[in-house]
Amino acid sequence: MPLIAITDVKKRFGDNEVLKGISLDIEPGEVIAIIGKSGSGKSTLLRCINGLESIDEGSILVGGVHLSTEESALKALRLKVGMIFQQFNLFPHLSAGGNVMLSPQVVKKAAKAPTEELAKKMLERVGLGHKFDAYPDQLSGGQQQRVAIARALAMEPMALLCDEITSALDPELVAEVLAVVKSLASEGMTLVMVTHEMRFAREVCDRVVFMHQGRVHEIGPPEEVFAHPKTPELQQFLGVAA
Ligand code: ADP
Ligand code: MG
Repeated sequence: MPLIAITDVKKRFGDNEVLKGISLDIEPGEVIAIIGKSGSGKSTLLRCINGLESIDEGSILVGGVHLSTEESALKALRLKVGMIFQQFNLFPHLSAGGNVMLSPQVVKKAAKAPTEELAKKMLERVGLGHKFDAYPDQLSGGQQQRVAIARALAMEPMALLCDEITSALDPELVAEVLAVVKSLASEGMTLVMVTHEMRFAREVCDRVVFMHQGRVHEIGPPEEVFAHPKTPELQQFLGVAA
């Protein structure tokens, strides 16, 4: 059974149909890259998978649970799908550890001690075990984004959705964040990444989805999608001569 089953999903904002019938099954442990021009619907798709946006038609199941069911089920599910954004959105008045502990504390009403231990573990997982007490403004952008990843991991998600998580970083800080993502991938985490990092997608992802005007325009293993793009739209997007 796929972990995430997306079937004929349509999403409109007013008259603007942004997703025009998306179908995509994502298996547990799969690493998916979503590529495509700005405005093609990539972020909207991720937000729909996370239940941050409602859909107009079709269905999305995560772990076998329908996203269109009642609010309580949706809430529980949202906690099980982590999302990381371009902007790290750390709380500036909390330490790295505090940021990572916050969600499990608030949401799961966990006692302080076990979450502190959990937060330490999660920060270690992203290579920042030594930064537990550091505040966001004492961390580089790459480190802040890694804290944001640790924060998402603290909720023990079934899958992680990453929306251009390296786009706001200085070029020299991109690699450390991608290295963390790569290690999560190798540990078997299910990952859906909207990314401009084509080399990374090529190296780490199992499948690449090219979105164009609200549709899955091409999909396949990276070696196929990048080396042999079939449609003129993808050829143009990749800058390959048709
Ligand atoms: P991408 O991430 O591929 O750049 P988006 O999913 O952000 O694309 O946007 C796709 C389209 O949906 C764009 O035309 C955008 O203006 C529109 N859109 C996205 N979010 C909203 C919203 N909350 N309200 C109205 N229009 C939106
Ligand atoms: Mg986007």
